Amino acid sequence: MSAIIFEKNSEPIGWIEIDSLWAGSVALECMHKVTLALSLVTLPVFSATITHNLNVQIVQVFNDAGGDGAPIASSSTFSPGASFLYQPEVNEIWEQAGIQVTYLPTVSWNNTEAQRLTTSERSAIYGDTYTSTTGDPLPNIPTDALQIFFVWDHPGTGYDGTVNSGWKNDTGFPNNSAQNAGNAQLGIEGFVSNGRSVMANRGFATEQLSGTLAHEIGHALGLRHVDEINMGAATGGPGDPDFSVVPLTDNNLMWSAGVGPGYDGSQDNDPNLTILQENEFLRPEQVAAAISNGLALDPDGNGIGVLQPIPEPSALLLLLAGLPALMRRRR
Ligand SMILES: [Zn+2]
Repeated sequence: MSAIIFEKNSEPIGWIEIDSLWAGSVALECMHKVTLALSLVTLPVFSATITHNLNVQIVQVFNDAGGDGAPIASSSTFSPGASFLYQPEVNEIWEQAGIQVTYLPTVSWNNTEAQRLTTSERSAIYGDTYTSTTGDPLPNIPTDALQIFFVWDHPGTGYDGTVNSGWKNDTGFPNNSAQNAGNAQLGIEGFVSNGRSVMANRGFATEQLSGTLAHEIGHALGLRHVDEINMGAATGGPGDPDFSVVPLTDNNLMWSAGVGPGYDGSQDNDPNLTILQENEFLRPEQVAAAISNGLALDPDGNGIGVLQPIPEPSALLLLLAGLPALMRRRR
């Protein structure tokens, strides 16, 4: 079976969903638009038992000369080597699944053509066949990691290859707004996937980017939109569970944009979850499927998946960890 790609489009008033096909595969675009006044209040009080590590490599696409990088963080808050603001929030969302997200060093890719991707170019990146006449070659598939490309434009931003389509040359976008559009290969066991996604941002609201990025990671780990599952998309297998009864009022990370409840920063119903986790909730079946798919997803073919189990500390290790305190007490 060929890879399925997920993307979705949304606007603040009414939501548009685009399902497109490439090379016999399904594609869904994910896009969120918010005003900057909307902000997620995040109070991390949750410490889950971490059972798995997920490696993620960010690729920021620059022009051939190494300039004009795709928006990835506001210039006032980013300095090379600093962690990106969205990273702890993506981690917080996936922590509810016992998954810690480890970011490999960010890669810069100098390729003007790849800054704005047409449908066929994006498919070529996913298929690892992308070439261009100028610029650096497509970065390698990373070792044991998902790979997320930050670009200026791709079909999720409305880019169709013409100069004024998409976001990059859109001068009419209000400066109090932010918008992002993601797209990911669906990494269900049995489907072909290189574990790649693309993200585009403008206006830059970190919190919104975090939610979309965590959502794309969900797709990369084989999770479909829960509303599409309701429409019968899932096969019902362990890696592709069928949610026929998710109420539209339930919070979930994997709603199509504009479907399901909106973000509620005052919602605090579960003492075991942070507000962010409650809003971007993952059901137990989704957690199990993401872990199963992530362990099996092996784009580099080295036998180790993008997700790796973290061994539980043995009773002996726990005892040893406690020894210094015991010894001090005996003095
Ligand atoms: Zn999606």
